[in-house]
Amino acid sequence: MNVTLLRVTPFGDDLAGEAAAICTRSDNPDRARGHAIMSGHQSILEHIVFTFKIEEISRVTLAQLTRHRLASYEVESQRYTDNGQCSVIVPKSISDDPVLYQEYLQLVQRTRDFYDKAVNIMGIPKEDARYASLQGTATRLILTMNARELRHFFSLRCCNRAQWEIREMADKMLDICKQECPAAFEDAGPGCVRHQCPEFRPCGHERTHDWDVAEA
Ligand SMILES: Cc1cc2nc3c(=O)[nH]c(=O)nc-3n(C[C@H](O)[C@H](O)[C@H](O)COP(=O)(O)OP(=O)(O)OC[C@H]3O[C@@H](n4cnc5c(N)ncnc54)[C@H](O)[C@@H]3O)c2cc1C
Repeated sequence: MNVTLLRVTPFGDDLAGEAAAICTRSDNPDRARGHAIMSGHQSILEHIVFTFKIEEISRVTLAQLTRHRLASYEVESQRYTDNGQCSVIVPKSISDDPVLYQEYLQLVQRTRDFYDKAVNIMGIPKEDARYASLQGTATRLILTMNARELRHFFSLRCCNRAQWEIREMADKMLDICKQECPAAFEDAGPGCVRHQCPEFRPCGHERTHDWDVAEA
C-alpha cells in the first residue's frame, strides 16, 4: 500500500487559528485554535484540505473508505482499464497458511484467465468481465478530505477494531497529517485518544495521548 500526499493547504494550522481568532476577536490565533478544537468548534478545521494518492488497496477497503461521504474521490475505472492482470491484496491470515495461500493464488489465476478469455476472445465488455473479479483486487485513487472529516475518519478507522487494511491506510494518513498540521491533529486518532472507547467490544489496548493528560 502506498499513501502519498499530493496537496495540502499551506500553513493549515495558521489558517485554522486565524479562522478561530476572527470569531472571538482574539489576538492569539494559536490559543483560539486550541480552544475552538477543545470546545467542539470544529468547523475551523474545514479550511484545511488534504489530497492523497492511495495505491495498492483492495476493493474491500475501497468500499469501506467511500462510505465516508464528506470527501471527494477519483478511482481507477474498471470499465475503461484492463483488469486482467491487476494485482491482488492478500490478507496475512491467508498468506500465513501455505495451503490456503496456494488455493487463493489458484483462484486469482482462474479469475484472470476468465477475464482474459471474456474480454480478448469473446469480446465481452470490460465492465461486465469485471463481475468475476475478486474483492481483493487492488485499486488506486485520489482522495480529498478536509481536516475535520479526516479527524472523524481517524477516530473510526485508526481504531484497533477497524479492519487491518483500512487501519494501515488511516495510520499512514494520520502520520502525514500530524507532520503537516501538528496542532490540528495533535489529539487526532481513535476514539480512545480523547474519550473512553466507544466500541461495544473494546480492544483492551487503549491508546493514550498527551492531550488526555493535559485535560485530566
Ligand atoms: C466499527 C464499524 C462497523 C461498521 N459496520 C458496518 C456495517 O456492518 N454495515 C454498513 O453498511 N456499514 C458499516 N460501517 C460503516 C458506517 O456505517 C459508516 O457508513 C461509515 O463509518 C462512515 O461514517 P459516518 O457515517 O460517521 O461518516 P461520514 O460519511 O464520514 O460523515 C461524517 C459525519 O457527517 C455527518 N453526516 C454525514 N452524512 C450525513 C447524513 N446524511 N445525515 C446526517 N449526518 C450526516 C455525520 O455526523 C457523520 O458522522 C461500519 C463502520 C464502523 C466504523
